[in-house]
Amino acid sequence: MGRAFVYVILGGGVAAGYAALEFVKKGVSHGELCIISDEPVAPYERPALSKGFLLPEAAARLPSFHTCVGANEERLTSKWYKEHGIELVLGTGVKSADVKRKTLLTTTGETISYKILIVATGARALKLEEFGVTGSDAGNVCYLRDIADANRLVDVMQSCPGGNAVVIGGGYIGMECAASLVINKINVTMVFPEEHCMGRLFTSKIANYYEEYYKSRGVNFIKGTVLSSFDFDSNGKVTAVNLRDGSTLSVDMVVVGIGIRPNTGLFEGQLTLEKGGIKVNGMLQSSNSSVYAIGDVAAFPVKAVGETRRLEHVDSARKSARHVVSAIMEPNKTREFDYLPFFYSRIFTLSWQFYGDNVGEVVYYGDMSGSTFGAYWVSKDHLVGAFLEGGTKEEYEAIAKATRLRPVIEDLTELERQGLRFAVTVSEKPMASPPIEVRASDLLLEKPLYAWHATAGVIIAASIAGFAYFYGKKRHRW
Ligand SMILES: Cc1cc2nc3c(=O)[nH]c(=O)nc-3n(C[C@H](O)[C@H](O)[C@H](O)COP(=O)(O)OP(=O)(O)OC[C@H]3O[C@@H](n4cnc5c(N)ncnc54)[C@H](O)[C@@H]3O)c2cc1C
Repeated sequence: MGRAFVYVILGGGVAAGYAALEFVKKGVSHGELCIISDEPVAPYERPALSKGFLLPEAAARLPSFHTCVGANEERLTSKWYKEHGIELVLGTGVKSADVKRKTLLTTTGETISYKILIVATGARALKLEEFGVTGSDAGNVCYLRDIADANRLVDVMQSCPGGNAVVIGGGYIGMECAASLVINKINVTMVFPEEHCMGRLFTSKIANYYEEYYKSRGVNFIKGTVLSSFDFDSNGKVTAVNLRDGSTLSVDMVVVGIGIRPNTGLFEGQLTLEKGGIKVNGMLQSSNSSVYAIGDVAAFPVKAVGETRRLEHVDSARKSARHVVSAIMEPNKTREFDYLPFFYSRIFTLSWQFYGDNVGEVVYYGDMSGSTFGAYWVSKDHLVGAFLEGGTKEEYEAIAKATRLRPVIEDLTELERQGLRFAVTVSEKPMASPPIEVRASDLLLEKPLYAWHATAGVIIAASIAGFAYFYGKKRHRW
């Protein structure tokens, strides 16, 4: 026997928090919504764990970073859920799901039934054991996915001031943790098999900028090899890291950030899976019409790149959460999810943002020896991706909007010459349904750029040369 709800959100992370707020905004009734989470606390902004949480002074602690403060919205504490009649079932895992019967069985033995289920189970950190290395349980080996991991990482850092850490992995978690370790005065060596850090997103040129900065802060890089084993002391603590290239590093602590795996296990054999996640349509609905999926666990059609993707980023979790509630509560008013991929990171005093897709030719701009530079990706004559380090709020908004508009790029050299100015110029135009193309002649004749043809698909084309000519003459503020 157990409780029954109209809506159940399975998982209590970022997406769950943002979905809860949206449910309330859309007028969910008291008692209709339940969130089940195996974490002991109400949903929080997970990115804080590798940033503010790890600071040596004035570190962020709950309740300060409960969702939805990351999007400058309300901070949803347990009290908030109570006041809004939302059942928050914390510290409780779901051990099985039956999508035909619409029931979930919890670790406490309760069967919770739903009319509509939103799967927001996120992902878990990959363990070294999955790559044939033992030692994850050692007292000084840390992962970072949830608040328990973050507390442990802080304790281990504080146990070895001035000590040596090896960070395994050169992705998001590795880079952000390495920066935090340095700020905590711990000596850091990063080890990863790729040629450069952030291999999935950065080009080697962009990566080089960050690696050089890290080196200037004392970080040592060992690339092109992997961990093969640990040495332990009599207490089971790791004392050395042995690498496949034959070298050995003495350590006081190890941080492992080698990727994540989406939590789909409960639904294997019940829902269609794709790209490692639960496949959903543009309304974020799975192969079972009563089950939706959002956040890291969802593989959804990303119109901007023309394929189904699973994204592992907080902005996607927040926006898919808002969208799913609209799709469920206002289906007639809700269009298909149209998401522009957005990734960001803040490390030391650096801060970058990336929008779109990193395919095609890369055009760099700005001063890579200074503090502001960026890159565009151009594929099939369209701008499809943009990266910027050290931009202002307005400049980040500009690259986002320009990427969304997918302007035609005919001349890469001219794009390079214009640099950030190109995105700013494009973004200053009124937004219409993407994709937009702007014809050079429209610019030269100063016709209104957005004299839209009513017919869908009629597109205006722009060349960068046109922009250069036009804006070179008309505007002198760059
Ligand atoms: C340390 C860290 C730093 C990050 N920094 C950034 C960043 O700077 N920029 C960025 O874009 N992204 C960042 N991310 C990624 C971002 O946090 C995730 O994309 C986001 O949290 C995904 O939200 P989600 O709700 O899908 O999953 P999660 O936030 O992971 O939430 C999933 C929830 O489901 C629960 N759960 C899973 N299975 C069950 C079950 N069977 N029963 C009950 N509960 C279950 C989990 O315990 C968890 O509470 C970071 C991630 C981490 C870990």
